[in-house]
Amino acid sequence: MKMFYSPKYEVELGEHILPTVKFRLIKEKLIELGIAKPWDIEEPPPAVDEDISLVHTPAYIDKVRRGRLTTDELAVLDLPYSKELVEAAWIGVEGTIRAARYALETKLGIHIGGGGHHAYPDHGAGYCLFNDCAIAIRKLKEEGRIVKAMVVDCDVHQGDGTAFIFREDPTVFTCSVHQEDLYPEVKQQSDLDIGLETGVGDDQYLEEFSRHFLPALEIFRPQLLVYVAGADPYHDDQEGELALTFEGLERRDQIVFQEAKRRRVPVAVVLAGGYARRTADTVAIHVTTIRTGRHIVRPGMG
Ligand SMILES: [Zn+2]
Repeated sequence: MKMFYSPKYEVELGEHILPTVKFRLIKEKLIELGIAKPWDIEEPPPAVDEDISLVHTPAYIDKVRRGRLTTDELAVLDLPYSKELVEAAWIGVEGTIRAARYALETKLGIHIGGGGHHAYPDHGAGYCLFNDCAIAIRKLKEEGRIVKAMVVDCDVHQGDGTAFIFREDPTVFTCSVHQEDLYPEVKQQSDLDIGLETGVGDDQYLEEFSRHFLPALEIFRPQLLVYVAGADPYHDDQEGELALTFEGLERRDQIVFQEAKRRRVPVAVVLAGGYARRTADTVAIHVTTIRTGRHIVRPGMG
């Protein structure tokens, strides 16, 4: 099965907590473990501006392209601006669009990238230039492929940009499970917010997640589920203070994939955050998500 990835995601950021090397390491590990074949990996081209403008304002897109973001805007984004960063952002949008389309065709689409959930229509924030998931949903709706979509955002930070973008759209259900006392300071209202206390571990996380998310999935019945599979609820993450283990995170993945499969809902996976002290841990968590998705949704695929 195809997976979407670009070597251009490995942007040089200098001394920055964001390990852009993770994308390549994940791709290499997937091939090493036989979860993906080298020829399964498809490199998306940059998205077209017309698609990005399904969510973002033309003025913002133009500013990003030309490097005209102000000092304040760059501080909110919290990334060093470079041509390479911009190129990776454009490609990252197309990667999620293609993974979502592929999910509709095959029930599972994997983007080894994406998850820019803090980006708003007119500004970027928290390492996110564009909200690729929101763009992909709008694009598939525009193409007439879907009417209803759901975002289940399990990154440890609230998916505030996504919640804001779809706040008045009854056709897109946004669900965010996150640490409450954490960035972003000002939360937006998702259709379902599961805000957890600092230090919550596997059992409580999985119990609350199942108890709230599953009824929402059952009632809303989306035609596409976008899974923002952040690795940062991990106990040794430097940016979050939840306490999930590898096993707990794998259980989370299993719940998402099993329940989607049971209802025949296609799943598009994007990676989002992951800042474990050891990058190898972040890589392992993301690889497990992808392996679990393949195993549950598309068993027996070569
Ligand atoms: Zn995060």
